[in-house]
Amino acid sequence: METIQERMKFIEEEIQAACTRSGRNRHELTVIAVTKQVSVERTQEVIEAGINNLGENRPEGILGKQEEIKLDTVNWHFIGNVQSRKVKDIIDKVDFLHSLDRISIAKEIQKRATSTIDCFLQVNVSAEETKSGIQPEDVKGFVEEIAEFDKIRVIGLMTMAPFTQDEELIRPVFRALRVLRDQIAALNLKHAPCTELSMGMSNDYTIAIEEGATHIRIGTALVGMESEGDG
Ligand SMILES: *Cc1c(COP(=O)(O)O)cnc(C)c1O
Repeated sequence: METIQERMKFIEEEIQAACTRSGRNRHELTVIAVTKQVSVERTQEVIEAGINNLGENRPEGILGKQEEIKLDTVNWHFIGNVQSRKVKDIIDKVDFLHSLDRISIAKEIQKRATSTIDCFLQVNVSAEETKSGIQPEDVKGFVEEIAEFDKIRVIGLMTMAPFTQDEELIRPVFRALRVLRDQIAALNLKHAPCTELSMGMSNDYTIAIEEGATHIRIGTALVGMESEGDG
């Protein structure tokens, strides 16, 4: 396998080029290394390469990595579906939750969290049945419904585009999320500043950057896949 450093150099060039094409500043962008498919050792390499935002999609993954990696400098992003009964295990251990998409989970967070957590609402823009997420037309109602939940701050929206090489199927999804983000931000709600956009993965991060992403979540392109990975 190539080193993380080599892969990051390539990705960083791609990021820079996308920023240049779209007149954006690289500093607006946070790169999250998704380490769900790799070991603690490989994750350590990511940190050594200078990346301090890590993404995991299972409670066991994030808790297992945190056992071994005890660094205040790392920001932990939870990007997966969380079951209600698991909320209590992770909620005080993650810095950002990217996948809030159900009121039942919001209620559980409100009940269990000891401090306010920065959340992205996951939106199912592409309307694929297999994808989770709030329907776009329901996002405003969802935001209003959690207004009294002082443990949740809606900092932005998150989505996943269809997995395809056809850019014309991907771009409208990101564009629609941005429009929705702007609409929610314009409500000027204290609990939902909604300035951020978590979108773009290995397959489509350059398109996401062009469409306004502030957080990209990169797994395989950066860390590869380890069949023996402990996730
Ligand atoms: C796995 C995953 C990623 C990273 O996917 P890659 O294609 O490996 O870059 C990003 N976001 C979410 C929500 C994921 O589950």
